[in-house]
Amino acid sequence: MFSMAAEPITPPVEVHHTQLLIDGKFVDSASGKTFPTLDPRTGEVIAHVAEADLEDVNRAVSAARKAFDEGPWPKMTGYERSHILYRFADLIEKHNDEIAALETWNSGKPYEHTSQKEVPLVTRLMRYYAGWADKIHGLTVPADGPYHVQVLHEPIGVAGQIIPWNFPLMMFAWKVGPALACGNTIVLKTAEQTPLSALYVSKLLHEAGLPAGVLNVVSGFGPTAGAAIASHMDIDKLVFTGSTVTGKIVLELAARSNLKPATLELGGKSPMIVMDDADIDQAVELAHFALFFNQGQCCCAGSRTFVHERVYDEFVEKSKAHALKRIVGDPFKNGVQQGPQVDEKQLNKIMHYIESGINSGATLVAGGNRIGNKGFYVQPTVFSDVKDEMAIAREDIFGPVQSILKFKDLDEIIRRANATEYGLAAGVFTNNMNTANTLMRALRVGTVWFNCFHVFDPTIPFGGYKMSGQGREKGIDSLKNYLQVKAVVTPLKNPAW
Ligand code: NAD
Repeated sequence: MFSMAAEPITPPVEVHHTQLLIDGKFVDSASGKTFPTLDPRTGEVIAHVAEADLEDVNRAVSAARKAFDEGPWPKMTGYERSHILYRFADLIEKHNDEIAALETWNSGKPYEHTSQKEVPLVTRLMRYYAGWADKIHGLTVPADGPYHVQVLHEPIGVAGQIIPWNFPLMMFAWKVGPALACGNTIVLKTAEQTPLSALYVSKLLHEAGLPAGVLNVVSGFGPTAGAAIASHMDIDKLVFTGSTVTGKIVLELAARSNLKPATLELGGKSPMIVMDDADIDQAVELAHFALFFNQGQCCCAGSRTFVHERVYDEFVEKSKAHALKRIVGDPFKNGVQQGPQVDEKQLNKIMHYIESGINSGATLVAGGNRIGNKGFYVQPTVFSDVKDEMAIAREDIFGPVQSILKFKDLDEIIRRANATEYGLAAGVFTNNMNTANTLMRALRVGTVWFNCFHVFDPTIPFGGYKMSGQGREKGIDSLKNYLQVKAVVTPLKNPAW
């Protein structure tokens, strides 16, 4: 269902910050260059944003290096750092609706979601990491011999963070929260499509008391600013979220420069498995959510919906009905469930995959077209009779295109679900404990959601097996990305004590 206001709704927010944030100040890029950031509802320019390249990244890294080496940030007590992060969370909460409006305007996500779910979750996540800041400590270990052995956990140094456009603010929070809690300093590059919300909240973080130079935010493009971060000799750690193709590039740049360790969160082709004992109506609804949430632009989207043959036809009919009634339109309008895709490149990629699905013999049961010729809207699309070898079942479409496949038994579904280069997540719908226990162990993925999907609590680690990435974000595991481990060994004069 398409529901569009005659004219795009005016976003309830203004853009104040478009410059680079270096050493605590908003500044122009060294070259004076800017690039336009667009409204995906119309393709029109929202603002011109300063464009960072090598020289700006160098300036940002110098500021972060100085803030790390000279302090005060890494030398402050955990309690002092925690206090600043709590104040930051309070400020995000205070400005919740403005931040949400900026996020919706720049990315096309429904405002009801950004204002009621995403920005509140960012506040919650910041409080979670604020809570960690004074609880990070090492340990002593009982080594053989007359030694007193301490293991210190120290901040890793300057973190280079490169984030994508599908969850601009959430990705900012997943990266900045744990890095700051551990006492590191940061150079963060936003995605070129969505620079605005990170600049806004970075200003709030300084209002909360963050010292200058601790967080530096550069807007710019991957091959210039992004590559400069990945290959910088003075950055101690790389943390990246984006495509697997780009993940390989940045990992190579990190290795070829100073061998900085990298945490990568990459693409996926997550199976959503519906057994014949599942509650079918609930499974249809959650499989729909697993794929269509966030315009289908989720690395962990349930993009291979595997349904047991005994319930397959019923499942396809009900999924079609769900897709046909999904409300697509201006993301600022109440009740809209799906806004535009982020940009024209993504729109074209999705349309290419829809064509490929049709040409390879899948049955198009709903959608299949672009909506209108202004903005980047796509009809919620459902394919049935999808086969494992089709491109729509193998590659990361990153759009509102559901592929429904049929299976017969447990052994077959384990083999087919795992037959992918990815391993980010899986959803399983069953009420049988034995089936659940078998699948929980057999699936080679970083997250298994049983009878639910897209549960993103700050305490739950997230990351992938295989080419879906390396390392974990959120939860306690995320702290490990930002800490060095130092062993300190001291002989004991009197071993008896
Ligand atoms: P991308 O991986 O190229 O971009 C992600 C980030 O990496 C952006 O900040 C970008 O500027 C930066 N980048 C790009 N090239 C770089 C380079 N050479 N060196 C350093 N940084 C670089 O993704 P994209 O082109 O925006 O989207 C393409 C596809 O990637 C999507 O269709 C989707 O399949 C996938 N994707 C996955 C995620 C995820 O959450 N895992 C997020 C966005 C996109």
